[in-house]
Amino acid sequence: MTDNVTNETPNSTTTEGTPEPMMDLFLTHWPRIAATAWEGFTTGGRGAITVVSGSVPPELSYHVGAPCKCHEELIGSYDPEREAVVAVVDDEQDVVWIATLGGWPTPAETSETTTADLIGATLQ
Ligand SMILES: [Zn+2]
Repeated sequence: MTDNVTNETPNSTTTEGTPEPMMDLFLTHWPRIAATAWEGFTTGGRGAITVVSGSVPPELSYHVGAPCKCHEELIGSYDPEREAVVAVVDDEQDVVWIATLGGWPTPAETSETTTADLIGATLQ
């Protein structure tokens, strides 16, 4: 368990309904979210993690660009090294909740670990 995930974006208050139980899942699964976000960013560019509403464990995907038109500015303003935009989507991939989340490890830190492991393996 971690208490390190914080919602750092002042304007991320929800207007589309907040499934609070999902937030607990985000906290629990933050390292996987962070790693997925970083991998997606480094391979595809800015985008959002989409989580299928109600899925346990959370079904994560990376969506390059904004998952919905009304939240494009979130994609343009988050810090990919420290934050991830997380969007909960319904069965039709419509966004029901979205916010910029930050936590530890940061997305960039998840990649450093992976990279270090890869380099170590390569050098041997
Ligand atoms: Zn939207």
